[in-house]
Amino acid sequence: MVRTRLAPSPTGKLHIGTARTALYNFLFARKNKGQFALRIEDTDQQRSSKKFELDITEGLTWLGIAWDEGPFVKGRYGPYYQSERLAIYQKYLDQLLKEGKAYRCFCTDLELAKEKEEQGKKGLPPKYAGRCRNLSAADIDQCKKEGKSSAVRFKVPQTEIVFQDLIRGEIRFQTGQFGDFVLQKSDGTFLFMFANAIDDFLMKISHVIRGEDHISNTPKQILILQALGMQPPAYAHVPLILNPDKTKMSKRQDPISISDDFEAKGYLPEALVNFLAFLGWNPGGEQEIYSLDELIADFSLEKVGKSPAVFNLEKLNWFNGVWLRKLTKEELLKRLAPFYEKARVDIANYDKEYLLNVVGLIRERIKKLDEAVALSDFFFTKQIKLQPEQLLVDKLDKKDLKNALEISLAEMEKFQVTDFQAEALEKTFRALSAKLNLSAGLLFSALRNALSGKKVTPPLFEMMQVLGKGVCVNRLQDALALLPI
Ligand code: GLU
Repeated sequence: MVRTRLAPSPTGKLHIGTARTALYNFLFARKNKGQFALRIEDTDQQRSSKKFELDITEGLTWLGIAWDEGPFVKGRYGPYYQSERLAIYQKYLDQLLKEGKAYRCFCTDLELAKEKEEQGKKGLPPKYAGRCRNLSAADIDQCKKEGKSSAVRFKVPQTEIVFQDLIRGEIRFQTGQFGDFVLQKSDGTFLFMFANAIDDFLMKISHVIRGEDHISNTPKQILILQALGMQPPAYAHVPLILNPDKTKMSKRQDPISISDDFEAKGYLPEALVNFLAFLGWNPGGEQEIYSLDELIADFSLEKVGKSPAVFNLEKLNWFNGVWLRKLTKEELLKRLAPFYEKARVDIANYDKEYLLNVVGLIRERIKKLDEAVALSDFFFTKQIKLQPEQLLVDKLDKKDLKNALEISLAEMEKFQVTDFQAEALEKTFRALSAKLNLSAGLLFSALRNALSGKKVTPPLFEMMQVLGKGVCVNRLQDALALLPI
């Protein structure tokens, strides 16, 4: 049975690295008819917060990455919060202590810092020298009597750890590289390395798919599992995601938060999932557009590359445009509603047909949902608030502008309401531009300004048709009243 998991620490918002890891775990589990669990690694109570946890669970849900076990979903291997599993870790820690596979370390932070400094001076990597490794029972009692607090360290055996990474192939580590590492800090908190390995075993996780930044933890976790007589899972370490200039992505300057940088900016979850899948995975064919279901069908770890993936925003924008145009007008309207709401554009008073007509006009012209408001807010107001300067058109003097708008108004008024259609309007106003000896571009700009107050809108005559005769006439009248001459 394939069982995967995502094990985020709720110490920050859901970021693209974790979202991609989640996606690969989800796809791999679904593809293999297995299960995908979500485990919240909140042993570090200082840095963990419910706010971040919520951002993570909501972000995954928004992306369509559903977990079979975890928060809000009952499972057989819970609890799924590490903070609720402390007794379990304590039990295994006691076992290691009892069997002499771990020991109490009374070294103070100061002593450890000094040791590190000395090693640094000699150009050596930091490594615990093992001062407390062989304390006698009497030594330990003495330290305890003196009220010294202790951490618990794993007694690292001198050996070689070899594992087959499903992405990177065979990986070897000499355990002599690292010193006896801490399992439990002197304040009683368990280290990620320890809790995480035990949980993976107890939750029957078959495949640990995670970021390459964890690769150096793997031999230590294998040692812990071996010491406890537990079978290690299979490991797959996914390559890092880098900026186009090959630097590491950073929270402060790069778009990495799923909620802030992608959802709020108007990316579609379908597009982001498609994009994330290709950040490291490549099925090799021509097809680039994949729905979640298609990804499930085609995903495999063999097609995940070893080299770092490069984050390309233009590519994401392209995916987003493609997915936007796949949506029906109704669906797009639903997705746009929160963006109008946030911008306080009230669309509730307009009938469905009108709303869908507006959506139809902007659909081809936006790449992200958040671009819709600026392109269409003037459809949802009785009167547009214009400054006289907004009416002006370069290369058209004010007198000619006023004249052009007055004649345009007269032309508009001649229309029957039902004939106020894009094609007929275009014919009329092209003819008018010829009659006025004014370039069509200038006349259309003048009309666009007066009707929308914008330089960029959907095509003028289609926009006029959707606004309707009454609104267009009113807006031209208002514009004329504003003109300074
Ligand atoms: N809590 C760890 C993290 O958020 C989990 C690493 C793992 O997947 O094993 O990085």
